[in-house]
Amino acid sequence: MSETLITSEIDFAAEGKQTGYLRVPHSVHRSAYGWIPIPIVVVQNGDGPTVLLTAGIHGDEYEGQIALGKLIRELEPEDITGRLIVLTMANYPAAEAGTRNSPIDSGNLNRMFPGDRLGTPTEMIAHYIEEELMPLSDFFFDFHSGGSSLMYPSTLLRGLGHSVEERQMLLSLQRAFDAPYAWVFQSGGGPNTTARTALGAAGRKGVIGVMAELGGGGEVSKEILAQTERGIKRMLHRVGALPGYVPDKANGTRELKVSSSTYAYDSGLFEPFFEIGEEVAVGDRAGAIHFPDEPWREPEPVKFESSGIVLCRRVPGKVVRGDCLFQIGSDFE
Ligand SMILES: [Zn+2]
Repeated sequence: MSETLITSEIDFAAEGKQTGYLRVPHSVHRSAYGWIPIPIVVVQNGDGPTVLLTAGIHGDEYEGQIALGKLIRELEPEDITGRLIVLTMANYPAAEAGTRNSPIDSGNLNRMFPGDRLGTPTEMIAHYIEEELMPLSDFFFDFHSGGSSLMYPSTLLRGLGHSVEERQMLLSLQRAFDAPYAWVFQSGGGPNTTARTALGAAGRKGVIGVMAELGGGGEVSKEILAQTERGIKRMLHRVGALPGYVPDKANGTRELKVSSSTYAYDSGLFEPFFEIGEEVAVGDRAGAIHFPDEPWREPEPVKFESSGIVLCRRVPGKVVRGDCLFQIGSDFE
């Protein structure tokens, strides 16, 4: 069964620019017949690729939400060839609250695919994206950031592709986005993936998908937002959806694989010894966890388990066992 209970105010077959809401039925004390309003914009002009663009899958990740809003206000149907489907706040309750997960059902949308048509609101949204929007789409661009707890430089994430054509297109999209870094996944993707992510949903539906990590820490970076806006237009141009756009010269992207993550094994205050982009070696002291409730106790050292560069770091100073402190990326061959 793929019939969703979510209704759309948008006619996906109509030409022109349409704005409105996906209505997720949600009957609660203050609103018996109410619905959750997920903003949606569709811009269509003739035959061409359909590109699904999403932000706010995690509600505390902001650059994509702003960049996609700017894009849809700027673009008119005559600028487009094909169709853009844009969700700025894909998990609306989470984005409205500015939290990673939905306050309604604690749902982490990017861990809930393929979703459930009769499930919680977050499961229903996942199901709608996978079963209703992915089948309309040729390409999927999903914009994230480190959220409240992590910070990333502007980074394009992609798989290796399951055919020569897909591999070439993914590489081409990476070059078009032109972020300083790319994180290349070693596994996953394709029609048989069991991934719970939106990118996994794209793979199951034969949609060529990339995602991006764009800053984080609950803030909006001027520099990363500008890179995001430029990168989105360059990718749309690359797939033929924005034919009149003239891309400027590319800056180049360093391709990385994530070789290790560094975790806290103690609860306390984390003092980092490295910043994003710095080179580290296996065994280097990554930082120290301090115990201000036992100020006479020596801080506990934390060490890197692989060599490379710091791709991402934790933002809040308070840590508990199991928190990710750093991700280390090494050059992808
Ligand atoms: Zn995210």
